[in-house]
Amino acid sequence: MAIINAPRGTRDILPSESWKWAYIINMASQTMKDFGFSEVHLPIFEHTELFSRGVGETTDIVEKEMYTFNDRGGRSITLRPEATAGVVRATLENNLCVQGASAKLWSWGPMFRHERPQKGRYRQFYQIDAECLGIAGAGADVEIISLTIELFRRLGLKNLEVVINSVGCEKCRPVYRQKLIEYFEGHKDELCETCLTRLDRNPLRILDCKNESCGHVADNAPDIYDSLCDECREHFAEVRKGLERLGFSYRLNKRLVRGLDYYTKTAYEILSGDLGSQNAVAGGGRYDNLASSIGGPKVPGVGFACGVDRVMIVMEEQGCSFGKMPAVDVYVAALGDDSRGAVQVLTYELRKNNIAAECDTSGKSFKAQMKAVGSCKFACIIGTDEIANHSVSVKNLQDGLQETIAYDDVTEYIKSRV
Ligand code: AMP
Repeated sequence: MAIINAPRGTRDILPSESWKWAYIINMASQTMKDFGFSEVHLPIFEHTELFSRGVGETTDIVEKEMYTFNDRGGRSITLRPEATAGVVRATLENNLCVQGASAKLWSWGPMFRHERPQKGRYRQFYQIDAECLGIAGAGADVEIISLTIELFRRLGLKNLEVVINSVGCEKCRPVYRQKLIEYFEGHKDELCETCLTRLDRNPLRILDCKNESCGHVADNAPDIYDSLCDECREHFAEVRKGLERLGFSYRLNKRLVRGLDYYTKTAYEILSGDLGSQNAVAGGGRYDNLASSIGGPKVPGVGFACGVDRVMIVMEEQGCSFGKMPAVDVYVAALGDDSRGAVQVLTYELRKNNIAAECDTSGKSFKAQMKAVGSCKFACIIGTDEIANHSVSVKNLQDGLQETIAYDDVTEYIKSRV
């Protein structure tokens, strides 16, 4: 019988990679703390209508990419394709944002989208996500964008570009939408099949179609900035001013729409020059109507999600540091079978004292044990002599020197040297 492999588009994060992964998450955790964000852990599956209403019925995610199934109680359940809708749901359900209060929350974990797998695109992928709820002003947008940039700065990513846009609000977008429909109607023969279906349902999405012909048509489409209402125009100007005050450069892209329908006003992406076609390492924006679209009151929000898998690829490609690979400091070896028990006792004693220690539990010969010391700094050897003398032979594996240390002093001896 053939071995069962992992499903297409998923991958195993193995020990050779997982410590680097932990480095990224720890860096995110520290950065979030420095920006005043608190961590939340939310369900990986939610009711399907959270995403169909929140993310938008006409988005690619909802139409084609969700892992949706009926559970045993017959309810339609979806593996979360993104984090924002869940964070907003949790904020409303737990009253985190009542009476003008605001909430700054972050989270990380797996997301699921049935997309065509390629480099940097998986069906189970991981996102670090931060959301600021309850604040309508542009200062919150600037804080979120600066948080994304700061996280990448700390991780050492180079060659990044910040791209921003305003996608308007429920007041000005319908006017713009109509202008777009009229414009694209006149260029139907130049649009791809997908964009033809988007024409009536979601014409804004045509703007960021990757098809070359659609791109040419979109380049000459009516400019969203001419349609923004005063409030959106002022908000966008404030965001830009705020970014400039912090010394960030950015590029305006009037065709940046993003694949989720909940965005209002600010939309942004951080692109890497080292990622090929899937070049966005993070994306986000403002979503002032998301809370009301899932049945709550109007709670403004702004947030971002960063793809951990892609950050990892870029860091590897750019030779960024992941800190030190965790290693065991001490190998405790048994010289003869009689000391195997004592070896396990000493190993546990060291571990209790926060010293990373390893010993053999599979019955390896002394020679084989000494081959397994790897990059340890010390080997502690216990044989019948050591048991009789209540001592341990400690070998410094860097300089090869060996000393006999009283058993009761060995933990302190090692502690002061690793
Ligand atoms: P989105 O939730 O679509 O706004 O995407 C936010 C970020 O998540 C992107 O910039 C990517 O870094 C990452 N991302 C989105 N989809 C995938 C995927 N299928 N595989 C890997 N990373 C992804």
